[in-house]
Amino acid sequence: MQKKFKTKVLSCSDEDIKIAAQLICSSQVVGMPTETVYGLAADATDAVAVSRIFVAKGRPSDNPLIVHISSMSMLSDIVEEIPELAVKCAEAFWPGPLTMVLPKKNIIPPVTSGGLDTVGVRFPSDETARKLISFSGKPLAAPSANLSGSPSPTTAKHVLDDMNGRIPAIIDGGSCNVGVESTVISFDGDAIRLLRPGFVSVEMLSEITENIIIDKGVLEQLALNAKVSSPGMKYKHYSPKADIYIIKSDYDSFVRYVNENKQSGDAVMLFDGEAEIDEVKTVFYGETSQQQAQRVFGALRECDEIGAKRVFARCPSTEGVGLAVYNRLLRAAGFKLIEL
Ligand code: AMP
Ligand code: MG
Repeated sequence: MQKKFKTKVLSCSDEDIKIAAQLICSSQVVGMPTETVYGLAADATDAVAVSRIFVAKGRPSDNPLIVHISSMSMLSDIVEEIPELAVKCAEAFWPGPLTMVLPKKNIIPPVTSGGLDTVGVRFPSDETARKLISFSGKPLAAPSANLSGSPSPTTAKHVLDDMNGRIPAIIDGGSCNVGVESTVISFDGDAIRLLRPGFVSVEMLSEITENIIIDKGVLEQLALNAKVSSPGMKYKHYSPKADIYIIKSDYDSFVRYVNENKQSGDAVMLFDGEAEIDEVKTVFYGETSQQQAQRVFGALRECDEIGAKRVFARCPSTEGVGLAVYNRLLRAAGFKLIEL
């Protein structure tokens, strides 16, 4: 693509956030830090601005965007109805990395909601994100700031790697704390339906209700023409150029498997502290689930930087935020899971 912009890197000073807010108010797209991953933000109520997000990312038009708010009054501006369970979730987890799918008002145009009559809403905790929303005075549609299909960005450099020349500005807010995208839920009668796992875990949601349905699309590959609860589930996601395989086993069996199968161009994704394997490049991606969440996308990008063609990854735990790490890796691997 032809470079349209000279992408400016802005700081988190109020002065710079105001420059970003002015861009938002003139229907432009800005790279924004949040506590989860970097987002590509535009005015969610402005169809022209939102269509620029889809162009910058190369995102399929039926994949809806999450709308970010900085006050509860903004929520009532954009959704028709807030069920009791949603109020409880907002009290428990907002501001924070939880997105709730709710019936939308007409102020949210179809381009933002991927043509659905619902909208995913999140009240982020990141101070810079909240200031950008408040200074613009608009709810901001903001998908992850990567090219569609590639790993989500957790630093301003990752955003620049994908978006340089495609957007006018990025606010550099350092590394994202959580590192994986928000938990996405919808409400199914008395139940919470988990559409995408994130930092707000099943264990945390079960403090609100025991009645939690984990949507099939979270852990399984859906058939090409299956009806999906959340359009993002049907797309290839988070993939580096390398071919990823998740190996579910203990460390010793993992090493044996790699040694028996290794070829040139192979790499491994190991947990911190594990011994490297001869003749195979290594990318480490944390020890605890929380560290793995912070580092999994950076590690997938690193696999490309070291020129890996094939990557064998240690299988993360699925407890707490681990389920989100596992869900992202499964998609990055195109569901190639080898159990030893
Ligand atoms: P991203 O913008 O990359 O963080 O992805 C947002 C994801 O949230 C999408 O891929 C959808 O799967 C999900 N999502 C957003 N809005 C809705 C909605 N109205 N209904 C169901 N899922 C949604
Ligand atoms: Mg994304």
